[in-house]
Amino acid sequence: MKPIQRIRVAGALLCIVPALFLAARPGFAQAAGTKQDEKAKPVEATAKNPAEKPVEIPLTGITSANSARVIQAVAAIEHSVYRCTSCSKVKSEKGQCCGKDTLAEKQEVADDVQANADARSLSLTIRAGRSLRLSDLESALKPLEVRVDRDKLMLPAHFELTLAGLPSSASATELEKAIKEGGTIEPLASEFDEGAKHLAVRLHAKSAPATYQKVAELVTKAKASARIEDVTWVGPCPDCRAKGMKQAGCPKCWPEGTTRN
Ligand SMILES: [Zn+2]
Ligand SMILES: [Zn+2]
Repeated sequence: MKPIQRIRVAGALLCIVPALFLAARPGFAQAAGTKQDEKAKPVEATAKNPAEKPVEIPLTGITSANSARVIQAVAAIEHSVYRCTSCSKVKSEKGQCCGKDTLAEKQEVADDVQANADARSLSLTIRAGRSLRLSDLESALKPLEVRVDRDKLMLPAHFELTLAGLPSSASATELEKAIKEGGTIEPLASEFDEGAKHLAVRLHAKSAPATYQKVAELVTKAKASARIEDVTWVGPCPDCRAKGMKQAGCPKCWPEGTTRN
């Protein structure tokens, strides 16, 4: 029995691998085309390169009376990034680089902001190369007494978590390993901030997109002291935006300069 099963698996792989290459080919052909072509003819999305969807945020406290103000507040969100004046590297948290304090910069984040009071939700597109933090979204909505409904919040296929409650980089490594072993989300890259004691970790959902609650549970289960400090939705890079999808493994699909190990 066993050898036959192995042969079958190998056979299946041999079929899948060329299929993936074939599926990827049109994307690469398009990449060589002109920018006008890319805009006119979007590449067909595949399982590997899912089409980009607007970010959907469930809300509480949204009404037909305040939805215009909700849209206004969200469209006005600016993302703070911290640029090193020496090497120009951009970091998501305040700190030091090249032995000096980094300089704060503000960037607009959201496009196509729409609110639906009946569905109690908000949808938006994140600008190419920008990112949106849950904490910034919540601060923008707070004066309107509107809140993100975390119980219903779905996380996208690719996202970044800032995790707190980690005393050392060793505890951060342990947590990352436990998340990986949890099986539903996979850490792609991470960076431990020694000053803030925060672990920033880029993740992707291995099958179905995860709910915020499921991920929060997974983090606490992996390490009792750990908790989600923030969630970041990351916009595609300009190339992927032009194609209407985040391409699998695209190294540019993360905020400029936040290259992680
Ligand atoms: Zn620097
Ligand atoms: Zn990209």
